[in-house]
Amino acid sequence: MDIALARHWVQAIAVAMDEHQDRLTQLDSAIGDADHGANMHRGFNAVLATQVSYRPDSVGQLLVKVGSTLISSVGGASGPLYGTAFRAAGKALPGTDPDAAELLAALRAGLDAVRELGAAAPGDKTMVDAFLPALDAFEEELRAGGDLGAAAARAARAAEDGARATVPLQARKGRASYLGPRSIGHQDPGATSTALVFGALATAAAAR
Ligand code: ADP
Ligand code: MG
Repeated sequence: MDIALARHWVQAIAVAMDEHQDRLTQLDSAIGDADHGANMHRGFNAVLATQVSYRPDSVGQLLVKVGSTLISSVGGASGPLYGTAFRAAGKALPGTDPDAAELLAALRAGLDAVRELGAAAPGDKTMVDAFLPALDAFEEELRAGGDLGAAAARAARAAEDGARATVPLQARKGRASYLGPRSIGHQDPGATSTALVFGALATAAAAR
């Protein structure tokens, strides 16, 4: 991944959050406070605005900046969580043109940071339920000899499956957990936006 691809990724995320804002809002109105669409939209628009004049030396630096911008521009739980993920991934990313395996390791560092901050385990009905299967699928594809584009496409499908699989779960973390068993039967908004983040990576990688 070079800086141009990282920029395309971020732009594709912003486009996806714009297109899917209403859907994320609807999902969050069922089991939260109806702000997830606005949070993600605001956060990635702020990211786009800072990227215009930002000239990073490396992909890692760019991702750290994305994370800091999300933390400072999004009020909800998802801002610090996504912000921490991008920051940790950026800090873990070596060199100026990391390969797909190095990107995977950095994304794992991002997921670890989310789990440390939010204390969510798989099955708690959070973004972790899309993030973890996405990285496992990414890794499997690389092991099978696939390139970044193939790995990202497979990760995106796994994240979507993971997001759908949150429907029957009861939320144990975040605002949705206040609903107890009434959180069952709805798809988690954060897992849904995580699937969009991986979908955007697949889109950006396929466009090269
Ligand atoms: P808020 O809950 O503050 O309104 P958002 O609506 O933007 O923030 O984001 C809600 C999403 O954040 C949830 O759908 C869930 O995926 C994610 N989330 C909430 N708490 C946690 C946590 N402790 N760990 C991981 N993800 C979490
Ligand atoms: Mg919310």
